[in-house]
Amino acid sequence: MPSSAPLPPAPASPSPATTSGRRSGTADAPRVQRRTFLSGTAAVGGAFAVTAAGVSPALAAEPVRAGGTRGAGPVTVRPNDRRYADLRRGTNQRWVGSPQKIVLAETTADVVAAVQRAVDSGRRLAVRSGGHCYEDFTTSQDIEIVLDLSRMDDVSYDRRRRAFSVQPGAPLGRIYDRLYKGWGVYLPAGNCPTVAAGGHIQGGGYGSMSRRDGLAVDHLYGIEIVVVRADGTARTVVATREPDDPHRELWWAHTGGGGGNFGVVTRYWLRSPGATGTDPAAQLPTPPREVWLSEVAWPWERLSEARFTRLMRNHGDWHTRHSGPDSPYTALFSQLKTFHRSAGAVVLDSLVDAGAPDAEGMLRRYVAAVGEGLGIRPQVRQYRRMPWLHATQWPGFTGPDPTIRFKGKSVYARRTYADAHIAAAYRHLTRDDFGNPGALLMIASYGGAVNRVAPDATAVPQRDSVLKYQVVSLWDDAADDAANVGWVRECYRDMFAATGGVPVPNGTTDGCFVNYADVDLADPRWNSSGVPWHELYYKDGYRRLQRVKAAWDPTGFFRHAQSVRHV
Ligand SMILES: Cc1cc2nc3c(=O)[nH]c(=O)nc-3n(C[C@H](O)[C@H](O)[C@H](O)COP(=O)(O)OP(=O)(O)OC[C@H]3O[C@@H](n4cnc5c(N)ncnc54)[C@H](O)[C@@H]3O)c2cc1C
Repeated sequence: MPSSAPLPPAPASPSPATTSGRRSGTADAPRVQRRTFLSGTAAVGGAFAVTAAGVSPALAAEPVRAGGTRGAGPVTVRPNDRRYADLRRGTNQRWVGSPQKIVLAETTADVVAAVQRAVDSGRRLAVRSGGHCYEDFTTSQDIEIVLDLSRMDDVSYDRRRRAFSVQPGAPLGRIYDRLYKGWGVYLPAGNCPTVAAGGHIQGGGYGSMSRRDGLAVDHLYGIEIVVVRADGTARTVVATREPDDPHRELWWAHTGGGGGNFGVVTRYWLRSPGATGTDPAAQLPTPPREVWLSEVAWPWERLSEARFTRLMRNHGDWHTRHSGPDSPYTALFSQLKTFHRSAGAVVLDSLVDAGAPDAEGMLRRYVAAVGEGLGIRPQVRQYRRMPWLHATQWPGFTGPDPTIRFKGKSVYARRTYADAHIAAAYRHLTRDDFGNPGALLMIASYGGAVNRVAPDATAVPQRDSVLKYQVVSLWDDAADDAANVGWVRECYRDMFAATGGVPVPNGTTDGCFVNYADVDLADPRWNSSGVPWHELYYKDGYRRLQRVKAAWDPTGFFRHAQSVRHV
């Protein structure tokens, strides 16, 4: 930790959170060290674009190719293959699929061929890129073929389209690395380096740079996609945001419609709106050279309900005041992690563009504002300056753990929390009959540049929210599934009890995030609001998505539990 830390100094005693266990359902019987995601300021990842950074013309002129597994051709893995056990699952170990085969495509032609064979044989196909889906959309038991795009992971510059070409299997960490090393640019997208472009971008991906530079889809120029025509023919289509593109609606549907709805995206082209010239380095934003990262913690043992309420109000009020598109605080992003009490502390991870005017002052004032009036000096766990690319390489909130199981439910918030939200959250975070330190509210700063875009310009209609958060739990033992899924459901239902158990679009909340898919939104036991799941995700945009579905997937070949339905 640098000695120049302007934040309050750390107390001498160790944080209780660093030693807590996480046995679900039993607060008094910890058995496993908590996950790496639970702490570490790098967890906020990413950075903020500022102004143009110098880029070597030589580097900028040459496309960067992802290497690795090219040349094997399409690979088909069946149940008797040694690779099957690995390839039948994604990140969330709550589900393991039973497909007849998994096809690992290498080219767009491989995708066309695989889709055509599935159509011809009448078999159900699901497409997977990074495997980070929150629900079982690529692992449900009725899926007969999984089309795996993880080997299609190229990141390069396409001169003809004056845009960066990103294949769906490219994980975010690779995208950041390639764009930055090659051209000094970046995409404001998610914080987990192993999430892949495939599902992430079309779901409206956001991250720690979004207050500064918007959503990933705000920089989406076009897509290449394999669709199935009414006569059952698989074909490739290119759709862009050009006003005269006859396929523009198909592009629009991929600016937030979510994965698995219309076809198989085989390529994204990225270029910021208004970007001019032929210099690749001018086609996307540039990140800051360095960021300040901080992590502070308030120990639960000192957080009474009154103090917790004060902290939450402080946090919500600050975001209500400082999340306009022109606020200087768009340079600042944070994640407030209100862990279950068994984790020991409530943690605030923050990141600020070190090149922004008075960056450290902004950070100091922000942390002070969140803790104001609590009468507790927070423990400073981390305060450091870091080059931008290094700050993006955090392994994600699941960490490298291959046994992770999780359930999350999301919230868009237009303003600070209602008192009832805070009271219900407190009740569930302090429950004695449940004790997983991996259960929390993970509350991200939102707004800023995201809110500069009109609600109908993309398929992400939530364009005036200031916070975006999840009620989420992570664990690793199937025996703990019911306790954890139950905790997430009950906490969320009780927080939004006044609106039917979900954050309906109203003056305070604005629905849910399709990238954090949640099948409960379609279940009347957990959503009694009368507002259907699709309105929570898409609001009025759903009708438009349905028209795109009818036009581009007329046979309904691409589907999952919450896919866009035909008109
Ligand atoms: C650990 C973790 C961290 C995350 N962090 C963030 C974050 O910071 N910001 C954020 O916005 N989101 C985040 N997410 C959510 C993430 O963006 C979504 O889950 C996203 O859909 C994952 O994409 P994927 O390709 O990795 O997953 P997959 O499971 O492969 O796909 C997800 C869905 O998209 C479909 N799909 C995948 N590829 C294609 C394709 N090429 N064409 C058509 N459909 C496709 C799948 O069929 C599935 O329905 C996170 C998720 C996890 C698990």
